[in-house]
Amino acid sequence: MSDVYPVPEGFAAQANVTKADYERDYAESVRDPEGFWGRIAQRLEWMTPPTRIRDVSYDRQNFQIRWFADGELNASVNCLDRHLATRGDKTALIFEPDDPAGEVLHVTYRDLHARVCRLGNALRNLGVGKGDRVTIYLPMIVEAAVAMLACARIGAIHTVVFGGFSANSIADRVRDSGAKLIITADEGLRGSKKVPLKANVDAALKLPGTTTVETVLVVRHTGGAVDMQMPRDRWYDAVVDSQPDTCEPERMNAEDPLFILYTSGSTGKPKGVLHTTGGYLLFASYTHWAVFDIKDDDVYWCTADVGWVTGHSYIVYGPLANGATSLMFEGVPSYPDASRFWQVVDKHQVSIFYTAPTAIRALMREGDEPVRKTSRKSLRLLGSVGEPINPEAWRWYYDVVGEGRCPIVDTWWQTENGGILISPLPGAWATKPGSATKPFFGVQPAIVDAAGNVLEGECEGNLVIMDSWPGQMRTVYGDDQRFFDTYFAAYPGMYFTGDGARRDADGYYWITGRVDDVINVSGHRIGTAEVESALVLHPKVAEAAVVGFPHDIKGQGIYAYVTLVAGEVESDELLKELVAHVRKEIGPIASPDFLQWAPALPKTRSGKIMRRILRKIAENAPDQLGDTSTLADPSVVDALLDNRRGA
Ligand code: ATP
Ligand code: MG
Repeated sequence: MSDVYPVPEGFAAQANVTKADYERDYAESVRDPEGFWGRIAQRLEWMTPPTRIRDVSYDRQNFQIRWFADGELNASVNCLDRHLATRGDKTALIFEPDDPAGEVLHVTYRDLHARVCRLGNALRNLGVGKGDRVTIYLPMIVEAAVAMLACARIGAIHTVVFGGFSANSIADRVRDSGAKLIITADEGLRGSKKVPLKANVDAALKLPGTTTVETVLVVRHTGGAVDMQMPRDRWYDAVVDSQPDTCEPERMNAEDPLFILYTSGSTGKPKGVLHTTGGYLLFASYTHWAVFDIKDDDVYWCTADVGWVTGHSYIVYGPLANGATSLMFEGVPSYPDASRFWQVVDKHQVSIFYTAPTAIRALMREGDEPVRKTSRKSLRLLGSVGEPINPEAWRWYYDVVGEGRCPIVDTWWQTENGGILISPLPGAWATKPGSATKPFFGVQPAIVDAAGNVLEGECEGNLVIMDSWPGQMRTVYGDDQRFFDTYFAAYPGMYFTGDGARRDADGYYWITGRVDDVINVSGHRIGTAEVESALVLHPKVAEAAVVGFPHDIKGQGIYAYVTLVAGEVESDELLKELVAHVRKEIGPIASPDFLQWAPALPKTRSGKIMRRILRKIAENAPDQLGDTSTLADPSVVDALLDNRRGA
């Protein structure tokens, strides 16, 4: 299973970061973080360059996380104004609509700057200023990036809510953030289906605790009919289009908030993750440059939604701070058919492509043909984020999508981190399918046991980070205590990630899944990722999710949910074959005690498997499913409940 893929020679020769660069700079970054980050901070354009670099203490008594604390800058100036002289006519954003025949937009840096300034002026006229919260509930259209940058320009704190969320979820987030204004659209489009965005906002604002919202700006996108409730609701074009196309940027302290973003809710109630201006922007831009090896002529496409942190850091802030061309795709991978991603790659000559394992597994399920019929010659680098990528899916991505030509960066990080913490630098490190490889500059991961002892060499346990990095979140919005308790209380002096990891003999990290998901079978700790990957290795299995359930003899037993490849048929023989297959791949200790067919798995709206709910089904506790509001399709759960063990 542990095959190694060397850096392609041609890639290494042109890479932004070579192995020698990495070794030298990484050593400096941990030996002298102040010197290192002080130097890297010069990537940004500061209104007042920082002289203080790092003020960090993880102790309960003197707890603080501050970077570049006396520096001043504006994020939108760094993403826009700075490029006008040299790249004004370069495409900043490419918009690819849901409908392949719809209108494509190429928005230059000059045009994007003007759009952001117009909205910035309009927001100021509507009484929004520094420190006010603005909720953005938009489809993947250019206005989403414009809205984020316009908030940044005037110092307002944006909080983007994924367009797939319901009225309840919007209301929760508005209530928690106390937003003054919402920017939305009439409707969104996903796979030709209309999403009633404005109607969802209307319903949300009828719910208690949402009266802070004074204004709703509505982008005309599909032209669908909506109720406009005057004077609260205003058409975006009517308010924005006539504004001047310059707008004085607010001077922001590096530690002034840039945005609040709620986590995807895989483990429980979403947390309002607060990021500040200087450290976040620097980390997003620097990781984007190093991990994606970005060059001026690249066309870069991250398929995430701007509603997730990946969209914030790697569609908007990182790429635009680097003057890159970033593609925004409104649609879904399966519409009109399973070739869509690759058709978009060919249409826009995408060179760098970044997606999630859930999308890769879904496309793999449809076979190679939809991929092979496209060219993909423009691709040079592939990326993955969001969940552990099963080695089988990794190899398919590498061999079929990338035709063995493109390195894969498997990037491990969290909303809390602001940017990538563990990932291959594609010109520096040979990769291993399923491993996120090595830490980024300045990042000091460690593995601890349950008592907090730091383990050395080859080991497995809980993943912690020993020191701060500039992109680290600063608090849970409005709840400093929850911030400390969630991340710093378990292991004093360290940031606890909540994930488990293994380190191999080469010092490569393998994320084994969330610590809460680890299964303890007769005293053996078994990571969910490993058993799932063994199942996915079977040619008939498209996707698998594994959880523990109470077992009289073993303490915990292994419960597997399996989704088959399109066209394969569920049978008792196949069930036995799969159990035997896992025994063979990992060993008898990991063989599933119970295997249930799953026509589909419950996932968060960002596509992550929600094992918390699967665990309750396996425990036969259907009344304890907890908060299911972040599920993409709650009906999936009903189907699983009907066929559960003991039902
Ligand atoms: P919540 O914190 O609300 O439960 P969440 O953890 O799913 O939600 P995110 O911040 O979007 O919210 O996801 C971060 C998590 O995703 C990581 O902690 C890890 O479990 C998983 N993850 C992300 N990238 C990778 C990767 N490359 N390999 C393995 N796991 C990954
Ligand atoms: Mg999390």
